[in-house]
Amino acid sequence: MNKRKTQSKKAILECIQRTGNYGLKSDNIESELPQFNRVTIYRILQSFIDDGIIHKVISDDGKSYYFKCKNCGEKHFHNHYHFKCNICEKVECMDNNIDVEVPKDYKIEHVNFWISGICNSCKK
Ligand SMILES: [Zn+2]
Ligand SMILES: [Zn+2]
Ligand SMILES: [Zn+2]
Repeated sequence: MNKRKTQSKKAILECIQRTGNYGLKSDNIESELPQFNRVTIYRILQSFIDDGIIHKVISDDGKSYYFKCKNCGEKHFHNHYHFKCNICEKVECMDNNIDVEVPKDYKIEHVNFWISGICNSCKK
């Protein structure tokens, strides 16, 4: 791996780590890291997804958000929801696990819940 690629990987990872439980919108990643081209950014994001480091969620307006994974390995497993605040527009990865029931003989591989409302800091 060349040096440039290592640097961009590091910068993108730091960007995601800084957000905590909040998601990073793809547009924001691009504007935070103007020194890297889009293709590089998306290629790196995809490699993080493949490595179980981050997960991606498509919002109700069709934008991609990236979130840090907590206990994912080679295979992601998520059954939590994402809460988008209609006022500050932050999207939070919630830790609450949701019990989802599917008919017998169905196997769940991915669950995506998208909730919007008003977050606790905006409610005050
Ligand atoms: Zn994951
Ligand atoms: Zn808010
Ligand atoms: Zn999440």
